[in-house]
Amino acid sequence: MADGKVLIIGGGVAGLSAALGLARLGLEVQIVEKKSFLGGHAIRFSCKATDRCVKCGACRVEETLKNVTNNPKIKVWTETRVINVSKANTFTIHLSKRPEYINPRKCTRCGACFDQCPESGALIQGYSKYNFPFVAICEENCSFMQDRSCCICQEICPEAAIQLDGNSQQKVYLADAIIIATGFQPFNPESKPYGYNSFPNVITNLQLEEMLKRESIVLRPSDNTIPKKIAFIQCVGSRDAKLNHLWCSKVCCASALRLARLIKSRQPEIEISFFYIDVQTFGRDFQAFYAAVQNEVRMIRNIPGDIYQTEDKRLQVNFYDAALSITQEEIFDMVALSIGITPSSELNKMVELFELRLDETGFAFGSGEAQWFSVPGVYTAGTASGPMSIAETVASASQAVTAVAKLLRQKAG
Ligand SMILES: Cc1cc2nc3c(=O)[nH]c(=O)nc-3n(C[C@H](O)[C@H](O)[C@H](O)COP(=O)(O)OP(=O)(O)OC[C@H]3O[C@@H](n4cnc5c(N)ncnc54)[C@H](O)[C@@H]3O)c2cc1C
Repeated sequence: MADGKVLIIGGGVAGLSAALGLARLGLEVQIVEKKSFLGGHAIRFSCKATDRCVKCGACRVEETLKNVTNNPKIKVWTETRVINVSKANTFTIHLSKRPEYINPRKCTRCGACFDQCPESGALIQGYSKYNFPFVAICEENCSFMQDRSCCICQEICPEAAIQLDGNSQQKVYLADAIIIATGFQPFNPESKPYGYNSFPNVITNLQLEEMLKRESIVLRPSDNTIPKKIAFIQCVGSRDAKLNHLWCSKVCCASALRLARLIKSRQPEIEISFFYIDVQTFGRDFQAFYAAVQNEVRMIRNIPGDIYQTEDKRLQVNFYDAALSITQEEIFDMVALSIGITPSSELNKMVELFELRLDETGFAFGSGEAQWFSVPGVYTAGTASGPMSIAETVASASQAVTAVAKLLRQKAG
C-alpha cells in the first residue's frame, strides 16, 4: 500500500473501525476525539447475551477499542477538536487539545482520587477497561476549575499523575485524507410529555444500557430498589411528524427488546410492558428472537399519551388499549424511553470546515465517496450519515477505508 496519513474526526465505532482498517494497510492514522474517552455511544452498551449471544454488537466495540489502543500506527488525541483546515497538496489541520490533567501513562487506576474527591462528577472514568486514558477531570464539576478552591486529587495521587493547572495545546497536522465520523445525537426527550428530567424514574434506554453495564441489574433511580413493573416506550423522537423526524432510527426495537429480555433473564420477577408502533425486525435470527420475547414481555401496540408521577414516585402511564377499546391508566415503577438517532450538531461545523453537504433530514450524504464534498479527499463513516447499527457502522467504515486507499493509490500514480 502507498504511504499516506489520514485524520479521523470522531472516535466512536465508525472512527475506530476506520482507523484499524487504515492501519492494517500500513497507513499512519490520527484519531481526534472531542470527549475524554474513545468509543462513542456504543461503548456504554451492555452485552445482552442471555443463555446465548444475541448479536447486539456491544463486544465488537470493546474489541475494536482494544485493537486501536494497542496499534502503534494509530495515534489518539482525546479532548481535541479541529479548529481550522486548509487544503493545498495535502490538508493542513489545526487542532486544539484541552489540558491533559491526568497523565494516563502515570495513572495506575488505584482510585485514590475518586475516594477523596468531594465533588460529585468532577472525576469521570471510561466505560471500558480498554479506555486510555481511563480517568479524566470534568471541568464543569471540578472546584479547581471554577475558583481553585480544591486540589485534593493532585495532592493525594501517589503517582503524581494529576496536574490541575495544565495548559491547552495547539497542534498542526498534515493529512492526505480525512474521514468524518462524528456520529449522531440521541434525541432529547424533554420536549415529550413523559416527565424526562423531572421524574427520576423516567430514563432513556441509553441510561438503562449504562446501568446494566455498570450494575448488571436494574434499580429504580429514585431509591435504588428493584422495580416491579417497567414500561418501555418506543419511537421517542423517531417517526414523529410533529418533530419532522419522519425517519425510523432502525436500531431501537431490536435494542430495547434485547434489553427487556436481558432484564427478564436476570430479574425474572420484573413485569415488562413494551409500547410500540410496529416492531422493526432485521436479520435472519431476529424473527426467532422476537417470537421468544413475546412469551416474556407484554406487547402493547400503542404509544402512550402522557405520564404523571404519583406521590411515591411511581409513574401513571396513560394509553389507549385497542384490544379493549378503552383508555387505560396503569402504574409502573420505571419507564425506559427508546430515544431515536438524530443528526449531530457537529455536522454543522463539518459543513463550515469541509463544505460537507447534508440531506433534507440533516444527516450527511452516504459514506465513502468524495463527490459529496467540494474538497476531494474527505469521506464520511457511520451514523453521521444516518441511523445504522454497529455492524452497519463497521461496514460503512470499511467503505470509507476503501475510498481512501483508492485515492492514495491514484495520488501515488
Ligand atoms: C438507544 C440506542 C440503542 C442502540 N443499541 C444498539 C444495539 O443494541 N446494537 C447496535 O448494533 N446498535 C445500537 N445502536 C446504534 C449504535 O449506537 C451506533 O451504530 C453506533 O454508536 C454508531 O457509531 P458512530 O461512531 O457512527 O457514532 P457515535 O457513537 O455517535 O460516535 C461518534 C464519536 O465522535 C465524537 N465526535 C463528534 N463530533 C466530534 C468532533 N467535532 N470532533 C471530535 N470528535 C467528535 C463523539 O464524541 C463520539 O465519540 C443504538 C443506538 C441508540 C440511540
